[in-house]
Amino acid sequence: MPEGPEIHRAADTLARAVVGQSLQRIWFAKPELKQYEELLEGCRVQSIAPRGKALLTEFEGGLTLYTHNQLYGIWKVVRPGARPDSKRSLRVAIDTAKASILLYSASDVEIWPSTEIDQHPLIRRLGPDVLDPDLDLTTVATRLQSKRFAGRTLAALLLDQHFLAGIGNYLRSEILFQAGIAAERRAGDLSEDEAARLVQACIAIPKRSYLSRGISPAVGMRADYLNDSESSFQFHVFDRAGEPCLECGQIIERVELAGRRLYRCTRCQR
Ligand SMILES: [Zn+2]
Repeated sequence: MPEGPEIHRAADTLARAVVGQSLQRIWFAKPELKQYEELLEGCRVQSIAPRGKALLTEFEGGLTLYTHNQLYGIWKVVRPGARPDSKRSLRVAIDTAKASILLYSASDVEIWPSTEIDQHPLIRRLGPDVLDPDLDLTTVATRLQSKRFAGRTLAALLLDQHFLAGIGNYLRSEILFQAGIAAERRAGDLSEDEAARLVQACIAIPKRSYLSRGISPAVGMRADYLNDSESSFQFHVFDRAGEPCLECGQIIERVELAGRRLYRCTRCQR
């Protein structure tokens, strides 16, 4: 499952291809969406942005396309009007004069009034998007200490999209390492200083991953995420079981927590 930074980068690519363009044609595989094909013709694509793991494509005229890729869905950008040979089944085709974007294999495809999309059952309960530029430290700190979340272990909380949308498994390991906190701790038991470090890492690390345009394994550099915000994003613990911690040299270990693999340095994380 892609995480917030990958989903945002994919949305950026689609947005660069068609946002601001008028629809020459839109095509849906689902019979119940056929009624919108003619209605949307000529409307401008106003925005394409993720909401959690879903993608919202908003059109001029008040309609929004909701799509969720689940495990198999994939978007492609192609020449205007092109339909490349593919074994995948085409679900949505959006044609503009500048480019076409094609969605394959996804089964969650819906059209909603733009004003009601916040009420979508899979969007309504999502926490703030971790890559929302308006998300601030205070908002995350307040959620962390709230009655609803304070009793949860950090291992479970960081994967819960109702807490913050967009954090997945690699970000969980990296955030906890950066904050220097053990995954079994509970939000409500953190010292003020620990909570501040965790909140900072929850915002800084997804952002750094997003800005770096791709993730790569660490290559013997010191962890320095917060001072060096735009160059590269490296895993400091994730997928590094058996290798030495870049901070202290202790061997990184892998454990299963909240049903997913987690990587940690037990000397750096308390
Ligand atoms: Zn260490």
